[in-house]
Amino acid sequence: MDNNLTLPQTIDMFKNISKKIIENEPMLTKTDLQVGDGDHGIGMKTGFKAVLRMLDEKEQATIQELFKNVGMTLIDSMGGASGVLFGTLFISGISELERDDVLTLCGFQKALNKSIDAIMSRGGAKPGDKTMIDALKPAADELESSYNSGCNFKTAAENAYKAAKAGAVKTKNMQAKKGRARTYREKSVGVPDPGALSVMLIFEAIYESV
Ligand code: ADP
Ligand code: MG
Repeated sequence: MDNNLTLPQTIDMFKNISKKIIENEPMLTKTDLQVGDGDHGIGMKTGFKAVLRMLDEKEQATIQELFKNVGMTLIDSMGGASGVLFGTLFISGISELERDDVLTLCGFQKALNKSIDAIMSRGGAKPGDKTMIDALKPAADELESSYNSGCNFKTAAENAYKAAKAGAVKTKNMQAKKGRARTYREKSVGVPDPGALSVMLIFEAIYESV
């Protein structure tokens, strides 16, 4: 296993992410019913079902086009705040992806970091606000430091998944400062953030794919 995924392997990675999110819709719904309005699971499932359909119907010419199509499909099909934020995750960093034909670990970690900056500036959430950022930021930081210390893609993805999971678990003890969960105030403590759980699932699927 070297440090690149081919275009077909990257398409498979997005299919695995989609299947993982779809399978976990009940868990995401249950969590968003406790600290939100209960639509996060259905929203994510709708978005990633549309991604699976798009990948079956449309030829992907380059890695950049693939990321852009996935992100646009999420924005178009999910609607709402989190559709834009998850779409941004795959779109805003594409200029960093380096190569058309393969997904490099170097390009992937740079793209994710750039996308997270875009999500934070668009949504205004900071680490500790009990949002998807609390899983995303540690995962992208870990991907970057694993890359910098010479890890291969598999090990880097494993480290990033563990960081995303730890970050999602930590949101349990946070009080929500952003999104609908904010209105729950102290009652949001004790339940993890649904968006952070989705991020954990995305990184789990990435790890399983490489
Ligand atoms: P909505 O809040 O519109 O009902 P969802 O239920 O699909 O959307 O998504 C909720 C998730 O979106 C939260 O769990 C949180 O992780 C994420 N989120 C909400 N607002 C923000 C924000 N401003 N910045 C980053 N993430 C956010
Ligand atoms: Mg919701």
